[in-house]
Amino acid sequence: MKYISTRKHEETNIKTAILKGLADDGGLFMPEYIPQLDAGFFENLPNLSLQEIGFQVAKEFLGESISDDNLKEIINEVLNFEIPAVKISENIYSLELFHGPTMAFKDVGARFMARMMAYFSEGKPMKVVVATSGDTGSAVASGFFNVVGIEVYILYPKGKVSPLQEKQLTTWGGNIKALEIDGTFDDCQALAKQILSDEELNQKFTLTSANSINIARLIPQSFYYFWAFAQLEKLGKPIVFSVPSGNFGNLTAGLFTKKMGLPIHQFIASTNANDVIPKFLETGNYESKPSKQTISNAMDVGNPSNFERMKSLFNDDVSEFKKEIESYSFSDEATKETMIKVKNDFGYTLDPHGAVAYLGLEKYSEKSNEDFVGVLLETAHPAKFVEVVEEVLKGKIEIPEKLEAFNRKEKQSVEFPADFELVKAFLMEEK
Ligand SMILES: *Cc1c(COP(=O)(O)O)cnc(C)c1O
Repeated sequence: MKYISTRKHEETNIKTAILKGLADDGGLFMPEYIPQLDAGFFENLPNLSLQEIGFQVAKEFLGESISDDNLKEIINEVLNFEIPAVKISENIYSLELFHGPTMAFKDVGARFMARMMAYFSEGKPMKVVVATSGDTGSAVASGFFNVVGIEVYILYPKGKVSPLQEKQLTTWGGNIKALEIDGTFDDCQALAKQILSDEELNQKFTLTSANSINIARLIPQSFYYFWAFAQLEKLGKPIVFSVPSGNFGNLTAGLFTKKMGLPIHQFIASTNANDVIPKFLETGNYESKPSKQTISNAMDVGNPSNFERMKSLFNDDVSEFKKEIESYSFSDEATKETMIKVKNDFGYTLDPHGAVAYLGLEKYSEKSNEDFVGVLLETAHPAKFVEVVEEVLKGKIEIPEKLEAFNRKEKQSVEFPADFELVKAFLMEEK
C-alpha cells in the first residue's frame, strides 16, 4: 500500500509516512485507496475480540511492512484496556474510549503511533517533539514512556493547562521531558516547528513530531467503530455514531471504516461553538476562524487539520460530504444542561465532550424521526475535567486511582521564555 500526500506531490510507504508525520508538500498522508474487508470478516465480527479486530484492520493498512507476529504484539500492547459500549438509555450507548492510561481516547492513537515509530526506527535514537494544550501531550508521553531509543520533549504553555493535565505532562521522568513555556499554546507550536526545521538540530539528531496529523494515530482510531458494531449489531437496528469533533481525526477514522464496508447508517459530527465544519456543510464554504474557548476545550479548533483528509475522501465534493455527515454545533449552555439531564434521568456522568456528542444524537433523532441505536464516542473520563463537571453537576465526582496517582507525583519541568534560541541551546546539550 502506498501513502500519498493530500496535496499529491509526495508518494511513499507507510514507514516513511509514519516517521515523517507531515509530507514535504505540507499535506497529510493518506492510503492510496481504502482497503476492503471481506464478507467473512463482517459475518464473524460479533465473535472477534477488540485485539483481533485491531490486528485484522491494521494489517490492511500496513500490508507487508511488518510481520504478523510483530503487529499482533503491538496491537495487544496498545489495546490492553477495555472499550465498552455502555447503555445510557433505551437507544443510546456511550462508547467509553477513556479506559487507557491517561483516560482520554488519544491514548489509543498515541500508543499505536509510539510503537510503530519505535518499530520502524529500528532502535536508531530519535527525538520526538510535541506541542500540547493539554491532552495530546500526556497521551504521547504515556505512549512513548520507556520506549528504548526515543526521547520525548513536550512543550506546554505555563499556567494554561489544568493542574491535573500538568501533572500528566510533567511527572513521567525517564525519557520524557516537559518544557514549560512562558507563553501561549501557539508559542509552543511555533517553537516546535522551529525546532523541527532547524538545520543544526537536524544535523545532530533525528527529529520527528508526534502531533495529530500522523497517519499512525488515525489507523487505530478505526478499530473501535468495528468493535462497537461487534457489541451492538445484535440489537438489529441501524447504528448512528455521534463524534465530538475538534481536528476531526476521530470522525475521519470512522469514515474509513464505512468505506471498508462497515454499514454505519449515519455519522454526526458534533462540535462546540467552533463550528467551521457545520457551517461548511450548510453553506459549502470552508472558512477557518480563530478558535473560541469552550468547556469542551479539547475541541476548540478553528481550522481542523483533518479537513484535508476528508476532502480527499470525498473528492472535494460537498454533496458527498453531506450524504455521509450531519454536523451540528452546540453552546456551552446546552452542553451543561445535557450533562445535568443525563445525570438526573439516567445516572450517567458525561464529560463535556461526550455531552456535545449526546446533543448531536438528540438533534438527529428529532430531525430524522428514525428508529436507531445511537452511539456517542465518550472521549474522556469526566474526572479529567473535574472542575467543570463538579461545578455543573453541583457535587463531587469520584477521581479514579489512575488519575490520583498522577496528582501524587512530583512535577518536573524545565522553564523557558518563548524564545527559540534558548530552547535550542538546551536541546543542543542533550545526548
Ligand atoms: C482531541 C479530543 C477530541 C477531538 O478529537 P478530534 O479527533 O480532534 O476531532 C474530543 N474529545 C476529547 C476529550 C479530546 O481530547
